Amino acid sequence: SVLAEADHKPERLLQMLRAVQAQYLHIPQAAIEQLAAALHIPRTQIIAVAEFYSFLHLTPQGRYDIHISDSITDRMLGKEKLLNYLAEKLKVKTGQVRADGLVSLNNTSCTGMCDQGPAALVNGYALTRLDHAKIDLIAELIEQQAPLLEWPAELFAVDEPIRKPGLLLNQPFNNGAAIAATLARGLMETLAEVDCSNLRGRGGAGFKTALKWRTCSVQTDTPHYVICNADEGEPGTFKDRMLLDLYADQVFEGMTLCAAIIGSDQGLLYLRAEYLFLYEQLQRVLKRRRESGLLGRNILGRDGFDFDIEIRMGAGAYICGEASAQIESLEGKPGIPRVKPPNSVICGYQRKPTVVDNVETFFAATHIAIQGGLWFAEVGTAQSTGSKLLSISGDCARPGIYEYPFGTLVKDILRDCGADDVMGVQVGGPSGTFISNRELQRRIAFEDLSTAGSFMVFNSSRSIFDIVQNFTDFFAHESCGFCTPCRVGTTLLKNQLRKIVEGNGAAVDLEELSELCLIVKNTSHCGLGDSAANPILSTLASHPELYLNQLKQSSFTPGFDLDATLAVARRMAQRDDDAAHLSQVEN
Ligand code: SF4
Repeated sequence: SVLAEADHKPERLLQMLRAVQAQYLHIPQAAIEQLAAALHIPRTQIIAVAEFYSFLHLTPQGRYDIHISDSITDRMLGKEKLLNYLAEKLKVKTGQVRADGLVSLNNTSCTGMCDQGPAALVNGYALTRLDHAKIDLIAELIEQQAPLLEWPAELFAVDEPIRKPGLLLNQPFNNGAAIAATLARGLMETLAEVDCSNLRGRGGAGFKTALKWRTCSVQTDTPHYVICNADEGEPGTFKDRMLLDLYADQVFEGMTLCAAIIGSDQGLLYLRAEYLFLYEQLQRVLKRRRESGLLGRNILGRDGFDFDIEIRMGAGAYICGEASAQIESLEGKPGIPRVKPPNSVICGYQRKPTVVDNVETFFAATHIAIQGGLWFAEVGTAQSTGSKLLSISGDCARPGIYEYPFGTLVKDILRDCGADDVMGVQVGGPSGTFISNRELQRRIAFEDLSTAGSFMVFNSSRSIFDIVQNFTDFFAHESCGFCTPCRVGTTLLKNQLRKIVEGNGAAVDLEELSELCLIVKNTSHCGLGDSAANPILSTLASHPELYLNQLKQSSFTPGFDLDATLAVARRMAQRDDDAAHLSQVEN
């Protein structure tokens, strides 16, 4: 049935593996053999996919598989103590499956619930605002082996706190209005409106949307594809979650008018695994839109205007937010970023011309199609027109979603969200920029502080090193391993930083850390490696004294226990006398 549901298409391998795992709590060898035979692909390819994604497993997990979000904001809300409490209650260690197979417990990267942490996932479904009382209840439900469907709904409640709607969130909208406006105005005329709006991609890179769409539309190779990137994995970002939860029609409508313009009849929405709770409701929205003539054949009665959208789930890999890695993942492979050129707009999904845009970009395009490009371009700054949705979390009274015209000052945002005694703000998530409280006059804009939407606030009680270590660990964990500078470099960065933070660093270590940062940044294959050193580099720039104060050693000290490292050699040589220990050798 897994094969039938996926229509025996190898590109749906990830979806098949997710379905197998949901049934067997892992991917059994027998399933791998069957899939390999049925799909005519090597079993090693299936194993490579299963090993690549954090949420797929080749060994059985617990019937209740719990992943606790390890984002810095979860940590600030007491995640570590709650994790220990849960582990104690359930008598299971982190990273292990309990002996009776009932429960497994793990850390995971950010789950996209930074405004309502500490958060976790149980069998993929989000649990929010965890506290001791909720953990008592969860432990009880697990011991009673209660099916998830019978768990109290409040455990899974996800709020969408829109604190400050602006240009786009305040716009009235009727289903079909943007498609109707596009068809009435004309496809190239609507593309001209998108061009005039100067809309730039909201996923972070800021590529001009109209240029991308035009380039795709003129490609003679067919078919063309539209992909909505809903793999919102940057820690601290959750505005796409809100858009898909509350404004899904407007996102799908943006994909549909893009399809009309570029000549595509197939769209894909790549939904991050952590947003599994949205999957069924998004399917219902798609069904309703098909029934209303807004998807499917001859949309809005226009002969030959055919377009439909399929939702595919990710499986826990931050790198799949990168467009070419996402395309690989959609083709049923490990999400390893492609070598470019060619760009995906020329050679994308199935090696065909493909537009990949962020959820917020399609949402904005919908309103531009209705209101026109000038309406949008009048807001914001010269290089950053329109508004930006921010996901605000951390030390503030009112975390949630805020929409601001581009160009808004950081200090005004901090005032609105109720942030006092600010030590610094991480704009754009771990891959973005850390600014200190001396830089609050800076602006949210592509020409100053560019962000896909993450805005994390830290007050003076926070340790910069806790933040930087959390981000550096995150990159080491999420490196896809394809290229050496990033695979090895992110781990070296993590270890070197730890050595300094723990007071074992000398001046030479700080120099080495700076050099390593530049090597990883300048020689990695994709954006992850390019930005992995940003947390260290930006805090070294804003707070050099912090790092210098940590240098307690006057001379070089190894970052590891040399004598302990020789234990294997001693075992092999069957020696444990004094001379076989390093301290004795030195004497
Ligand atoms: Fe993978 Fe890192 Fe290399 Fe990007 S830079 S391809 S994430 S190893």
